[in-house]
Amino acid sequence: MKTASTRSFDQAVFFRDALFQGLAPDGGLYVPVQSFDLRELYLSLDPKLPFAKLSARVLSPLLSDEMSETAIQTICEGAFFFSPALKRLEKNLYVLELYHGPSAAFKDFGASFLATAMSWFLKNENKRSIILTATSGDTGSAVAQAFYEKPNIDVVILYPEGRVSPLQEKQLTTLGKNIHALEIRGSFDDCQRLVKEAFLSERLAHLPLTSANSINLGRLLPQSLYYIWAFIQLRESLTDDLIFSVPSGNFGNLTAGVYAWKWGLPVHRFIAATNLNDVVPEYLRTKRYLPRPSIATYSNAMDVGNPSNFERLEQIFQKSPDLMSSLISAFSVNDSDTLQTMKETWEGYGYDICPHTAVGLKACQDFKKNWNDEDGTYVVLATAHPAKFLEVAEKATGRQPELPESLQSCLSRPKQSTLLTPDLEALTGFLLNLG
Ligand SMILES: *Cc1c(COP(=O)(O)O)cnc(C)c1O
Repeated sequence: MKTASTRSFDQAVFFRDALFQGLAPDGGLYVPVQSFDLRELYLSLDPKLPFAKLSARVLSPLLSDEMSETAIQTICEGAFFFSPALKRLEKNLYVLELYHGPSAAFKDFGASFLATAMSWFLKNENKRSIILTATSGDTGSAVAQAFYEKPNIDVVILYPEGRVSPLQEKQLTTLGKNIHALEIRGSFDDCQRLVKEAFLSERLAHLPLTSANSINLGRLLPQSLYYIWAFIQLRESLTDDLIFSVPSGNFGNLTAGVYAWKWGLPVHRFIAATNLNDVVPEYLRTKRYLPRPSIATYSNAMDVGNPSNFERLEQIFQKSPDLMSSLISAFSVNDSDTLQTMKETWEGYGYDICPHTAVGLKACQDFKKNWNDEDGTYVVLATAHPAKFLEVAEKATGRQPELPESLQSCLSRPKQSTLLTPDLEALTGFLLNLG
C-alpha cells in the first residue's frame, strides 16, 4: 500500500516504512495514497468468519503489493486473538464492544496489529528495534500488552511517578521480559520531553529507536476492520441507514471508520461524540478550527484540545467543513449527562457502559432528536470496559462493575520498574545498557 504525508503526496512510501517512521519527514501524518473499492468484499464476506480471518481478507487487497497473503494471515492471526462483540440494547440500537483485548480498551486493536506487524518485518529483515514511548496512563498499557514477548523488539515506557492510577501502573509494570517500565520523578510533560530529547540525541543515534504513538498509520488502519465486521454482522437485518456513533478524542477511531466508508462501506452517517473538549463540533458548526488546551472530564481518554487526526480528516474532506458535514455530525456531551446516561443504561438495560461510551450513546440520542431519524440502525462504539473507570461508574450507578479477568490477574503480580530522575543523562544510561 502506497502511503504519503497529509502535507504532500510527492514522496510515497510503502506501508512498511510508514509503520517504522510514524510521522512523515515533513511533519505530516501518513495516509493511504490510492483509493480502493472493497464493496464486493463487504457484501460477500461470511458473517461467521472469525474476526482475524475476516481482517486478513479485507487487508489483502490493500497490502498485497508488499506482503504475501500468508504473511497478512499470519499477522492478523497473531494480532487478533480477541474479537469485537455486538450487543443489541433495543430495536435498531447496538453497542459495538471493543474492549475484549488485553488492556480492555479499543486501542488494543491498533496496538496489537502494529506490534505484530513490526515484529514480523523485523524478523524477516533480521533487525531489532527499541520502542520508546511516554504515557500518562492508558495508552501505555495497550502498547505494553501488545509488544509483550514480541521477538526482535524491546519496549521502554516512561510514566510519571505517582500520577497514573494503581491499576494503570500494574498494567505497565507487571509484564517484565521485553517490556521495561521507567518511573520518572516528574510529570507526564517531563516524560514526553525526555522521549523527544532521546530521539534527537547524538549519543543514542546508533540505537534502532522507534515510536509507536497513536498517530502511526499501523494503529489506524486496523481500526477500520471492526466497522466492516459490524456491518457484515448486521448486513442481512439492515432495513435502513447505518449510523455509527464514535466517542472521540484524537479522532483516530472516527478517521478509521471514514476510511472504511471511502472504500465502499455503506455508512449513512458518523456521529462524532466528544465531551466538553469540543473543537471539532465547533468546527462543523462555525467552520473555524480553534485548538486550545484540554479540560478535564470524566471521559478523560477524550480530553484532547487539538485532535492529532484532524489533519487526516481535513485531507479526506479537502479542507471543506461542508463536505465533512455531509458525512459527519458532531455533538458535545457534558459530565452530568455522561453520568445520567450511564445510570439510565444500567437501569434501563441492566448494562454497564464506561463514561466514553456514555458520551457516544448520549450523542446518538441527541442526533436522533435533532435529525428526526428514527428508522436508522445505530451502532455506538464501546471504547473501554466499564470497570476501568470504577470511581465514575460508582458515582453514576452506585455500584461497581466487575473487572475482566485480564485486568484482575495483573493486580496480584509484583511491580517491576526502574525509578529515574527526569534528565536525559539517566535515560541515556538506561538505553545504552539495554545492549
Ligand atoms: C483513546 C480513547 C478514546 C478516543 O479515541 P480517539 O481515537 O483518540 O478519538 C475514547 N475512549 C477511550 C476509552 C479511549 O481510550
